[in-house]
Amino acid sequence: MKVIALGLWVLLLIAMSQRPLPIAMPAIAPQAWEAAQSCSQLKPKPGFDLARVHWYVDDLRVKDRFHAMIGLWIAPDTIILDPLTLNDSVTVVHELLHYLLQPAPNEEKHPVLYFVYRCHLLQLPVGG
Ligand SMILES: [Zn+2]
Repeated sequence: MKVIALGLWVLLLIAMSQRPLPIAMPAIAPQAWEAAQSCSQLKPKPGFDLARVHWYVDDLRVKDRFHAMIGLWIAPDTIILDPLTLNDSVTVVHELLHYLLQPAPNEEKHPVLYFVYRCHLLQLPVGG
């Protein structure tokens, strides 16, 4: 019995280590892609169309020490979504706006002009 339990534990560890798992483009992605372009008033850079994006799912909230991460863009064309946000338009638009902006490594990751004022995808802290 212990051998079986150990075997299941090893299989579970292997399954967990295989995340992030590649997934098909979320159903809301085309609409979110249009929304990101519309609110930002930007067009994609040549070669950076929606079909290029590699989509993954992973337990981001569990891995984030603040348990707050629900989406992640990795330059240049990878987006990881937490299982809870696969159909969350705000999260998908947020990550697609990163992809659309294609900031250089030394540039601001969440430019206020786009993420706050134009697209309302982040809020500025107020007061203090
Ligand atoms: Zn972001």
